[in-house]
Amino acid sequence: MQVIFSNRAYLAVVTETSEKIKTETGGIFLGCYENGIWYIIEAIDPGPNSVFQAAYFEYDQKYTEHLINKLSLMYNAKLSLIGLWHRHPGSFDEFSSTDDGTNSNYAKLSANGAISVLVNIDPMFRITPYHVAWPLKYSKITYKVGDDLIPKNLLQMKNIEQSLDYINNYANKSYIRTSSNEKPQLDFVRLLDGIKEKLQRVTLSKDDFSMDEAEKNRDFLIESLLDDISYFTEIRKLALNVEQNKGALCLSHKGTNNVVTRIYFIYIAQKKQIIFTYGDDCYLYNSGLFENLLADFNPVDVTFKSGLMRALGL
Ligand SMILES: [Zn+2]
Repeated sequence: MQVIFSNRAYLAVVTETSEKIKTETGGIFLGCYENGIWYIIEAIDPGPNSVFQAAYFEYDQKYTEHLINKLSLMYNAKLSLIGLWHRHPGSFDEFSSTDDGTNSNYAKLSANGAISVLVNIDPMFRITPYHVAWPLKYSKITYKVGDDLIPKNLLQMKNIEQSLDYINNYANKSYIRTSSNEKPQLDFVRLLDGIKEKLQRVTLSKDDFSMDEAEKNRDFLIESLLDDISYFTEIRKLALNVEQNKGALCLSHKGTNNVVTRIYFIYIAQKKQIIFTYGDDCYLYNSGLFENLLADFNPVDVTFKSGLMRALGL
């Protein structure tokens, strides 16, 4: 059994020791165990709330857990917490009884146990790696440093192009915001028809806008619509499909009769206005428009009223 440090992990141990030269310090190792070799890919510092006293140390657990997750995201391989290191005063390169407790906790994490590394400055920088088995048993093991000794797949970082692809396509993806199990009281068309008279109609010709300008402002368009999208989905319990295509944004809804209703929104840069199309017409849109107009639109009253009107033959 042996330990191999990546250049970066080894450097992290050295720089941490150097920075805290007057006190004890330590850290956590991120890596993996393969065929009798412990590969240490990253070494994480103990964190701002760690405690290092003569016979006692405690890592800032929240901080280290956070960093373990963040760093793991950058690697293709599955890295895990494989051990720890800390500095001892003088030439003491064995474990104290407090260390036994901490080491046991780490060794229990995996069937392969863990590694625990001691750093001494007596007066030269010196490290002593141990394998910790559970039930508690220490064996001194040798170590080497060098990226060239580590299988390529373990050091491989995430592909930037692939990650960027995800980010850059994210806004173009359509996504469905499903509502809760509650059924909507009124469907999309009934709501839109209910406020149609209060909407401000606009006439628009093709020369009035450019798709390029609209695309440049698509973030503004989405932000302007967020409140109303939440209103439809959270308050009105509608399952809406929100789809973005270049500069336009489409809200669609499948009614009980399976008929899909779509309204398209677009930002008109020349007029600094958002307009939307519903049916054959275009209307002016302002952020929160639907929520404001529909606030007074009581579905129960309408149903009652229309039922009453029908009953009266109106
Ligand atoms: Zn110790």
